[in-house]
Amino acid sequence: MKETQNPAAHFDAVVIGAGFAGLYMLHRLRQLGFTVRVFERGDGVGGTWYWNRYPGARCDTESVTYSFSFDDELQQEWEWTERYAPQAEILAYANHVAERFDLKRDIVFETGVAGARYDATDGRWLVTDERGQTVSARFLISAVGCLSAAAMPDYPGLAEFRGEWYHTGQWPHEAVSFTGKRVGLVGTGSSGVQSTIAIAPQAAHLTVFQRTPNYSIPAWNGPLDQQATRALKANYAEWRARSRYAQIGIPFDSNGQAAKSVPPAEREREFEAAWAEGGFNFVMAYPDLLTDLDSNRMAADFVARKIREKVADPALAAKLIPTDHPLGTKRLCVDTGYYETFNRDNVTLVDIRAAPIERITPTGIRTADADYPLDMIVFATGFDAITGPLMKLDIRGRDGVSLRDKWADGPRTYLGLTSVGFPNFFMITGPGSPSVLSNMLMSIEQHVDFITDCIAMLEQRGIGAIEPSAQAEADWGTTVHEVGHTTLYPHVQSWYTGANIAGKPRLFTPYAGGVGTYRRICEQVVARDYEGFVLQPA
Ligand code: NAP
Repeated sequence: MKETQNPAAHFDAVVIGAGFAGLYMLHRLRQLGFTVRVFERGDGVGGTWYWNRYPGARCDTESVTYSFSFDDELQQEWEWTERYAPQAEILAYANHVAERFDLKRDIVFETGVAGARYDATDGRWLVTDERGQTVSARFLISAVGCLSAAAMPDYPGLAEFRGEWYHTGQWPHEAVSFTGKRVGLVGTGSSGVQSTIAIAPQAAHLTVFQRTPNYSIPAWNGPLDQQATRALKANYAEWRARSRYAQIGIPFDSNGQAAKSVPPAEREREFEAAWAEGGFNFVMAYPDLLTDLDSNRMAADFVARKIREKVADPALAAKLIPTDHPLGTKRLCVDTGYYETFNRDNVTLVDIRAAPIERITPTGIRTADADYPLDMIVFATGFDAITGPLMKLDIRGRDGVSLRDKWADGPRTYLGLTSVGFPNFFMITGPGSPSVLSNMLMSIEQHVDFITDCIAMLEQRGIGAIEPSAQAEADWGTTVHEVGHTTLYPHVQSWYTGANIAGKPRLFTPYAGGVGTYRRICEQVVARDYEGFVLQPA
């Protein structure tokens, strides 16, 4: 990291990223009367929704839920058009929020942060951008997101490929045409599932290269029921209050019993009802679906039957049914017409577990047993998730210790918000918080409010710096580990456990105890005068 000697400007706080987390953080810090600079890599706000503009991209959380709750006028005035909002509409919403609260004037666009160094002499962070300019700030807040470091496969030969290629997480802003083209798509997670549905009707031929099938639940997406939305809006405050203490930040009706303990016919009815509701309702149908292998198997068998009903060719259906992981332990996909897409004449599924991709050739993809001529390759190969975006930054705390070194064997945080040795540094939806297991907008608001209240407390008391105690951090690490291991998640190779990235420590880092429980823990920490934190006088 090249750092200029003298900071070009001084701020009370620097925020990294202008996605939803960065936008709300800026808004709250302004309310404290702070001077703030937000650094953003892209040339617009929106984060995830700025970068992931691949065909078919839309949220897997319902639009009335996946939206800010901090301002009633905002939530009342914004009109969503579909049950699950498409990427363009969410991006328009992010821009609306930025403009409504006049946020853009404190954001510098097309300016990534290279790193930051804590200067203990005057208790300030020196933050250097990718152009080498440095500014200083008392507080440094990461709003880099959990899924913003795209992961590309390292197949040889890509540089020689003569066609077009794209990663879903770095999709170009210009229109991409699939018309008349032979398109190859690598990856069958949420991005691959959505892209498949959107590309198939446009391309001459779509070849989907699947390493591992994933479970996908119907979204039953469509125009938002305006009458139901009006009723919800009339009661928004109560709905949001329930969301804040719900398991994943979305209030679901759960049966309350163990799936395996109910009679088969009743269970079947319950699964049918949850299937008809669609999306994450399905995995929330019984509270033990993500903790008990037997119950999970019953839900998985139900979905397998549904896949067989949708796919005309039984051999093809068998290839699309996951067998290597319990349902929902890799992030569930939510679709409208995914399995049916494989009934099209212009779509082929290639099992690259059976015959792996060997290389990219100038004219396509070569697997162990065939050559596939292609005009375009779409990599829907995911992200170095959760810690990836933070580890890309060169963040150095007290005594020059780098976050990368400290976290070499896995992230260590207190509440997913702070880390020992990094005074006045906060992470929004960091590792060790519910983050990716939750409705992100709810978690972002909770974190930002916690950080704002904490900073206001420091100001009121004239305290110079805050960081967690080593004991609190170690105990929280144990809690995250133990709670995680009451679920089925840690035993699966997924981006949740870091298994998708070569050399990454295999750890399940989100806090799995639920959004409500986590919120109560944070409230208790505050009520006990920031228990677990060390406050240093100015
Ligand atoms: P992902 O879930 O990690 O899926 C990546 C896919 O690429 C997997 O099928 C993976 O196969 C495959 N893959 C990775 N490396 C490969 C390689 N070298 N060769 C062949 N295949 C390879 O990534 P994603 O689909 O981008 O989704 C990531 C997360 O973003 C989601 O889980 C979700 O949380 C979020 N997201 C949400 C939405 C939404 O709201 N609807 C949409 C998109 C993404 P393996 O499974 O075998 O590793």
